[in-house]
Amino acid sequence: MEFVEVSEGLARILVPKAERIYDAPVFYNPVMVLNRDISTLAVRVLGVQSVLDALSATGVRGIRYALETSTGEVWLNDINENAFRLMVENVRRNTGVDPELGERLAKFRGERLITVTNDDANRIMANSFRHFELVDLDPFGSPVEFLDTVLRSVRRKGFLAVTATDTGVLCGAYKHACRRKYLAEPIRGELCHEAGLRILIGTVARYAAKYDLGVDVILAYYRDHYFRAFLKLKSGARKADDSLGRLGYLWQEENGSFRYGEGFLPDRPGAHGPLWLGPLKNQEFVEDLLSAAGNAPLGDPRETPKFLRVLAMELDVPFFYDTHALARRNGLQVGKLTRIIEELRNSGYHTTRTHFLPTAIKTTAPFEDVMDVLKESQQPI
Ligand code: SAH
Repeated sequence: MEFVEVSEGLARILVPKAERIYDAPVFYNPVMVLNRDISTLAVRVLGVQSVLDALSATGVRGIRYALETSTGEVWLNDINENAFRLMVENVRRNTGVDPELGERLAKFRGERLITVTNDDANRIMANSFRHFELVDLDPFGSPVEFLDTVLRSVRRKGFLAVTATDTGVLCGAYKHACRRKYLAEPIRGELCHEAGLRILIGTVARYAAKYDLGVDVILAYYRDHYFRAFLKLKSGARKADDSLGRLGYLWQEENGSFRYGEGFLPDRPGAHGPLWLGPLKNQEFVEDLLSAAGNAPLGDPRETPKFLRVLAMELDVPFFYDTHALARRNGLQVGKLTRIIEELRNSGYHTTRTHFLPTAIKTTAPFEDVMDVLKESQQPI
């Protein structure tokens, strides 16, 4: 293997040299820097003391947790042997500790512990009963094959950080795969990304419920063709019932109007879901991330704070109106987005842009009022 050194945050790691990232013997995706930035900020802000980076590849994520947060224990794991060797080397370079091949534990800066293993994440998590305060699942594709064991290994009031890169599945390009993996009916069209994210969260909520665990979404977003959710677990049957109570369904008409409603079963045909209809963020947490970003060694100091600002200002209601899709669906010209937002605000409706789609708005206004404003905002060709 040939390597190149890359810096990210405080970490300087070796990654395999490859023409295309998916051909590399160990996976490293520079596009995911923002994902790792936000995750590192989250570990910092939450102040968690033990973290498992269950699918670590080069080790970059866990190494950043070790270097950039005050967490007392970081465990890095990957099933791939090349990845394991590289993680060991990268830990050695970044922390000065020498986790010899086969040796499992290494002390880092006094009391802090770094563990590097070469095992199936499911086995590690099954064996670590309620041990970790935060577990990070950042797989290729879907995280569903790890959900049972992750809920076993995380503390009952701990945190789960989950990535899903199978956006084609969650967004309805492969409907049957979505039914198989998430037991949910996806939607196509402009709402597919938000619906996909909510299907993912809804799935975690259903897995958690059988262990009498509820979930709070502290932040969930879609970006660069992946979904990411940070969830806080809540212990107790009542909490699990409450979370299941936030699941429901979505319906959309040809003209772009939509309706959603909570319920264990859909109350009319054509439903998409089940999906999470609760909040996608805890405002205080997002603001804490944003202020932590101000003095953190970020991998992408330009994009990460910018994206967090978008998330912080976004109105947190289910779904949105895409001005382009509405115009297309109803044979209109597209007006200016800033003007549409201003008009709706002038009419007293809370309205913002959304990170899901640059041409869309989240608003408390009903469909008819959005359409009126859209018509008024039309510009002659
Ligand atoms: N989290 C990394 C990227 C991980 S890519 C980052 O931020 O850069 C997904 C990794 O999961 C791959 O290295 C793959 O070898 C590993 N993997 C796949 N199935 C696994 C399993 N069952 N147990 C442990 N690792 C697994």
